Amino acid sequence: MYTVGLTGGIASGKTTVSDLFTEMGAGVVDADVAARKVVEPGQSALAEIADVFGPDVLDERGELNRRALRERVFADEQARKKLEAILHPAIREYMAGWIARLESEGAPYCIRVVPLLVETGQQHDVDRVLVVDVPRETQVTRVVMRDGGSDAQADQILATQASREERLAVADDVIQNTGEIGELKAQVELLHQQYLTLSSG
Ligand code: ATP
Repeated sequence: MYTVGLTGGIASGKTTVSDLFTEMGAGVVDADVAARKVVEPGQSALAEIADVFGPDVLDERGELNRRALRERVFADEQARKKLEAILHPAIREYMAGWIARLESEGAPYCIRVVPLLVETGQQHDVDRVLVVDVPRETQVTRVVMRDGGSDAQADQILATQASREERLAVADDVIQNTGEIGELKAQVELLHQQYLTLSSG
């Protein structure tokens, strides 16, 4: 299926934009959702993680204790690699199943939301890259408004992500999310038409 990778920095508006694409009838899959699903109780990746890292990474309900796992892999390159070797194929498989489901339901094309698309080099795995772009100050304001915390904490998160310029350098399409939601919708509508044409060609 024709796939558009949607990315953007923290609080740039990826979820807001992908919800608008869903409203228009596009298929939408989200790498963060997949990453959460594959470690739900009953999933084989969670069992593997418990095997490799020990029962301490599960809480009393058998759910992943993210904090304990983070502490195990923090500053331990080899442990982190082991974790990635479990998670990455599981996420890939989950995403493939999700995309196949959307296709069988008749989705004309697929928007794949990947927050760290540029950082992980996944721009090569999609047909087209769409970047949701806002100035850094807007990102900081919105993240503080949504999640609380200080400007300095928001700055710290931003520092771990690709820069605005790095993202724009791989973009085929750019949505400016500095205006009202109505303006955002108009931009999504235009792109949706373009993606319908591209995917049927
Ligand atoms: P994250 O990277 O943290 O997952 P995101 O890129 O998915 O975030 P959203 O959650 O869509 O971003 O938006 C971040 C916040 O900014 C939300 O609270 C959202 O309601 C708000 N927001 C998004 N677009 C606009 C806009 N055009 N005007 C005002 N607020 C907006």
